[in-house]
Amino acid sequence: MSDAVAGPLSTQLDFRNVVGGAPVDGEGSIAVVNPWTGEDLGAVACADAAVVGEAVEASARAFAAWRWTTPVERFDALMALASSVEAHLDEMAWVESLDSGKPLEVARGEVVVAIDTLRFFAGAARTLDGGGGANEYSPGSTSVLRREPLGTVGLITPWNYPLLEAVWKVGPALAAGNGCVLKPSELTPLTALFLARLACDVLPAGLFNVVTGTGPATGEALVRHPGISMVSFTGSAASGRAVAGAAAEHLARVHLELGGNAPVIVLEDAPLEATAEGVALAAFDNSGQSCTAAARVIVAAPAYDELVERLVAKANELALAQDPEDPHGGLGPLVSERQRDRALGFVERADAAGGRVLAGGGAPDRPGFFMDPTVVVDVAQDSEIVQGEVFGPVVTVQRVDSFDEAIACANDVPQGLAASIWTDSVRHSTLATRELEFGTVWVNNHSCSPIEAPFAGFRQSGYGTEMSAESLHEYSRTKHVMTTVVK
Ligand code: NAD
Repeated sequence: MSDAVAGPLSTQLDFRNVVGGAPVDGEGSIAVVNPWTGEDLGAVACADAAVVGEAVEASARAFAAWRWTTPVERFDALMALASSVEAHLDEMAWVESLDSGKPLEVARGEVVVAIDTLRFFAGAARTLDGGGGANEYSPGSTSVLRREPLGTVGLITPWNYPLLEAVWKVGPALAAGNGCVLKPSELTPLTALFLARLACDVLPAGLFNVVTGTGPATGEALVRHPGISMVSFTGSAASGRAVAGAAAEHLARVHLELGGNAPVIVLEDAPLEATAEGVALAAFDNSGQSCTAAARVIVAAPAYDELVERLVAKANELALAQDPEDPHGGLGPLVSERQRDRALGFVERADAAGGRVLAGGGAPDRPGFFMDPTVVVDVAQDSEIVQGEVFGPVVTVQRVDSFDEAIACANDVPQGLAASIWTDSVRHSTLATRELEFGTVWVNNHSCSPIEAPFAGFRQSGYGTEMSAESLHEYSRTKHVMTTVVK
């Protein structure tokens, strides 16, 4: 327990791993920092290879029975977990807010979505089947397709939506009949640990374990463990490559959700005030730390000046929150000093390379890891700030002379996660949805990812599907059974 946090939270924070249904210490510790103040909330116990091994073994033991549960039993268990989170909604929101830097109301909203996500996957557990029914493909033989769980799956998540990232993986993994070991980001491990502690009361011991620690230590030990049948990873492309390489050694299945760098195409027939408002929200929400955040606004020349003016005004209007409970809302801090300085570095280098910073570009002189909402124009297509993922409250604006040039600029980056086009033209929006090489394409909106819809990256944004009933297929395998019966 941490003494650093007083009040109702002190009973909700426990920094130990959850393995086999019980708290487990680790080797050494990693400080968990409150982004609002820069102060330590406490320190998590770092799980070494031995603790990771215990977690994988605990999961395997639980899986031996869980795999034979009926869909309705899995439904009941996941519904019970959702209800348990609901009963702790306020505490969970506080923990998420202090751990990640989200304003309390935002964190509360994410806990509500997490509860709904668990209920969605509870229902999805009852829909999984082999597909295709039974067939006679060969005379005298009947073929049946069975959908089976994989075993123990390793789940690795980032810090930008700590609880949501956890349930987007734990939900389908358990619904499909697997056991799991989750390693949350070392920056934001607290809601995952909280969730696992709640799960101890409603799930079989060891079915859902949480180990904490850094990527190279704890994460890699999990990926390399031969008892892991699959790794589902969300994070940066660089870490994704390391994970895929390590998993290849024992041929574990890999699902990768990697970085985005979303383009926003604005054509001259778009309603510019509503567009600027939508783009500002998509760019600066969660302080820009969303994999689908609007990052590169690509504007048709006739609309360029007005759109830039309106977007800059929106950025300047946005306030930074005073504290998690600020009644006026506002943007929270970035997750860490390192992340804030990284985003500032992108802007400084773009400025030095001839870009113009029309809004923000700096950090306020106050405690916490805040950064002002930033708009940068006059950036080259091959510049670092256009090609890379800033992952902060920063948006670039580029001017183009044709629809084809807009599509070419949008596609001309390594990432392929999400994109949007804003226009009144059915012809242009239809063409764009065909030609944009991104896993999600929005028309006249940006950022909404309902749990019912599949979410997947193209190109360097990874492979595999998260969310939706389709994601249960990631966590299961198909077996062909052929029975020959002589009459
Ligand atoms: P990161 O890659 O640094 O870390 C992600 C997780 O991987 C952490 O838990 C980390 O400890 C672990 N990790 C790092 N190296 C590892 C290794 N070698 N082996 C095993 N585990 C390892 O990413 P981050 O900074 O936490 O998150 C930001 C990134 O996540 C951004 O690129 C963002 O776009 C991406 N992201 C993608 C999606 C998506 O759905 N595509 C969603 C959210 C975030």
